[in-house]
Amino acid sequence: VRWWGRVDRASKDPINGVTEAFLADPSSNKINLGVGAYLDDEGKPVVLQCVREAEAKIAASQFLGSISTAVSSKYVEESVKLVYGRDSDVIKEGTYAGVQALSGTGACRLFAELQRRFYPGSMIYLPDPTWSNHHNIWRDAQVCKRTFRYYDPDTKGINFAALVDDIKNAPNGSFFLLHPCAHNPTGIDPTEEQWQEISYLFKVKNHFPFFDMAYQGVASGDLERDANAIRIFLKDGHLIGCAQSFAKNMGLCGHRIGCLSVLCDDKRQGVTIKSQLQQIARAMYGSPPLHGMLLVSTILGDPEIKRLWVKEMKVMANRVQRMRATLRQVLEKLGSPLNWEHITNQVGMFCFSGLSPDQVDQLARDFHIYMILDGRMSMAGVTTGNVNYLANAIHEVTR
Ligand code: PMP
Repeated sequence: VRWWGRVDRASKDPINGVTEAFLADPSSNKINLGVGAYLDDEGKPVVLQCVREAEAKIAASQFLGSISTAVSSKYVEESVKLVYGRDSDVIKEGTYAGVQALSGTGACRLFAELQRRFYPGSMIYLPDPTWSNHHNIWRDAQVCKRTFRYYDPDTKGINFAALVDDIKNAPNGSFFLLHPCAHNPTGIDPTEEQWQEISYLFKVKNHFPFFDMAYQGVASGDLERDANAIRIFLKDGHLIGCAQSFAKNMGLCGHRIGCLSVLCDDKRQGVTIKSQLQQIARAMYGSPPLHGMLLVSTILGDPEIKRLWVKEMKVMANRVQRMRATLRQVLEKLGSPLNWEHITNQVGMFCFSGLSPDQVDQLARDFHIYMILDGRMSMAGVTTGNVNYLANAIHEVTR
């Protein structure tokens, strides 16, 4: 056995594995409900008009030969305004460390590294369930993980009592990862009152809230509303960490454009923490790419293009909401005796269907419909053209 002979194949990623199975299926009826990227009602990927306009504007940019870290401060400023609010003290006083990151994944990874370096031996509490890559990210950063209870399969809602217990029982000063809106995979978010209670308990327990904001604007169609959880924590005076991604809300997944911000006691501390984040990034990938960053800062920095973005985001959110309503309606019309209210109660890109692994298998085998084994369906893959076929198939496997 030579150098690599002892290495075993890595386990398949549960999300990428779905797409592989979908691509290998020759059926013309096939549906991919695996990936969360937005598709239009024809099932086609979308390039937003606001992105096209930003592209035209930066075509002659004098920055195209620069290194992004040299020109990204405006981008970071505009990004963090979205989460903390443009009139917040944090923004006005500049009491944060913010860096461009490799999309939401890279922002999480940077934070995990910061946590390991400066809080060695600390733990991260992840919701059960959560986006599967969260487990990979903190594992690779060598931070120990625990989960806190979140979802109740019986009510297909939040298990708030258990969540509160787990927050209370965690050692004081623990790190928690929270999804501020459109929880992936369940589509279930705490109510405003519940967020207030969570924030209060975090204060009492001195826990650190790290928000993974991957869907701002695509959950409700409203940027401010989707940031409400963060604003509640802000009002209570927490120092927050936040990963932002423009993969979904601007359709820029392939550009790997995101932002990591960490709130600090004052501006000087912000500069210090930023220098540490930049040092971590320098050894991992040098500096992040330029083009997506210029696109986003152009969209956010130009009031007219920004208005167009907000409009297009609403169209995306509405389409997903319409497909939820139709899917539920058709299932009910088919006479399904099961309760499908959760399809419309949940928010965001995903519907946590409640289908069992056997039913998911059967959908793939008999109907060429592909989703993750946990029953998460990406509503972006549902269209006017396939919603009846999908509802009928779900009805057949749940009879
Ligand atoms: N966090 C969550 C909860 C997600 O659902 C996603 C996208 N699937 C991400 C982070 C990061 O995605 P990206 O790295 O493409 O921004």
